[in-house]
Amino acid sequence: MADNKRTFDVIIVGAGVVGSLCARELARYQLDILLLDKCSDVGEGTTKANTAIVHAGYDAKPGSLKATLNVAGNALYDEVCAELDVDFDRCGTYVVGLADGDESTLQALLARGLENGVPALEIISGEEMRRREPALTSDARAALYAPSGGLVDPFQLCYAAAENAVANGVELRLNTEVTGLWRNDERIVGVLTPAGPIRGRYVVIAAGLWADTLMHQAGLDSFAIRPRKGEYFVMDKAAADVVRNVLFPCPTSVSKGILVTRTIHGNVMLGPNAVEQDDKCDLSTTQAGLNEVMEGALKLVPGLDSRHVIRTFAGLRAGGNTGDFYIDAPRSTPGLVVLAGIESPGLTAAPSIARYVTALLGESGLCLEPRPAFSPIRHGIPRFSELDDAEREALIAQDPRWGRIICRCEMVSEAEIVAACHAPVPARTYDALKRRVRVGSGRCQGGFDQPYVIDIMARELGVSPLEITKKGRRSQMVVRRTKELRA
Ligand SMILES: Cc1cc2nc3c(=O)[nH]c(=O)nc-3n(C[C@H](O)[C@H](O)[C@H](O)COP(=O)(O)OP(=O)(O)OC[C@H]3O[C@@H](n4cnc5c(N)ncnc54)[C@H](O)[C@@H]3O)c2cc1C
Repeated sequence: MADNKRTFDVIIVGAGVVGSLCARELARYQLDILLLDKCSDVGEGTTKANTAIVHAGYDAKPGSLKATLNVAGNALYDEVCAELDVDFDRCGTYVVGLADGDESTLQALLARGLENGVPALEIISGEEMRRREPALTSDARAALYAPSGGLVDPFQLCYAAAENAVANGVELRLNTEVTGLWRNDERIVGVLTPAGPIRGRYVVIAAGLWADTLMHQAGLDSFAIRPRKGEYFVMDKAAADVVRNVLFPCPTSVSKGILVTRTIHGNVMLGPNAVEQDDKCDLSTTQAGLNEVMEGALKLVPGLDSRHVIRTFAGLRAGGNTGDFYIDAPRSTPGLVVLAGIESPGLTAAPSIARYVTALLGESGLCLEPRPAFSPIRHGIPRFSELDDAEREALIAQDPRWGRIICRCEMVSEAEIVAACHAPVPARTYDALKRRVRVGSGRCQGGFDQPYVIDIMARELGVSPLEITKKGRRSQMVVRRTKELRA
């Protein structure tokens, strides 16, 4: 049951990358903070399904919140990822011009980037671009190079931020849906949940696709979110030698275009397309959409081999009707801070959004007294696959479970699974574990490891294997026992 006598200083609705980084930023101060999410893990919304690029910041309209927070967020990535032990590679990104007129688009992007304050942008020739990316199409005429762009693991950033927030005193409640805002006259005084109301002096809505639903309850009717689907292919690491860089085509009127990129973990990813839809829950991929993605990707890198595809997925952009991020503490509803329309580059901007929201709360009267005990440092679980022989031997000597490989494709040891089950934000579902330690992320997609993983998770979490789900409610992985164990 929710405790309706306790009053939190700040309640954050939504534990995506934005809400989790907001919680961590606010944990620097002497505040009682509650981070809520309706899902069974943090980062289950748009945070788990995007392109994972830390954008340089040449796309957004100068002067917009998107432009300002993109460039500011990008600049914070080295510090945030070092503190939180998150994989980040400032490898640079390219926009490649392939058609008539693309060179003028690249010049326009360069000018926009300079106006937005993006550092060290340059236009390079098609010949130089092909030298840097030998598999690139011979149609490449020129490219915009943005050395400040990069690659990150968005889930890792999200749960690392949530873990660091929890370690600094933030309370995290999962499986808790906010069904309404609790009002006392004009002022917001908390949130309503199926388990009862929860009091809060300030409520921050960081609910991604559902931000508008909660805004409308506060009388902020003019903002609307229309989901825009993006579909992807993920390729095996065996395809990694084909693509070295992050390759965008020139942007279209609705998206940054279908790109070809390596990922931070060494796979290759193609996508996304952009298809508007009404349903905020429909994450299905379609044959037509995937065909569009493959065609777009082949225009950039004609030698891509579809036999390397190991997975398809889709994400939904929380496209707002203003074209910009909406981040505000509306005067009409004291106690409320709203974040809506946080579509791309929301992942990039997330660290600066967290600072912006903290400043907004301060201006709205929240007392921001620094907490001397705050520690920004979080240590992740060592990855057996990335250690050298001496490091592996040292860990196995401490605990033999480091030497028991459960996922052969990604070389994940039993000890990593055990550690993820007992982390400050523990993995309680198969997908949560997959996001933390990469079990089931390789060629076999979990075909070999799942029975072992279910057993280990059940043992560590103290539940029956029948209770281990893929992603929470109604997604059981095994439904009944078929053989009785002999005594
Ligand atoms: C196809 C695609 C590609 C993208 N590529 C990039 C990229 O390369 N770089 C980049 O910078 N950005 C990119 N983005 C944008 C980026 O993914 C998002 O901006 C970012 O993930 C938004 O995070 P969030 O925390 O605001 O939202 P979410 O991750 O959606 O989190 C919102 C959370 O709120 C919870 N919630 C909702 N309603 C309630 C409720 N009533 N009660 C409790 N909890 C609730 C949800 O469960 C969810 O966990 C892309 C997005 C898409 C879809």
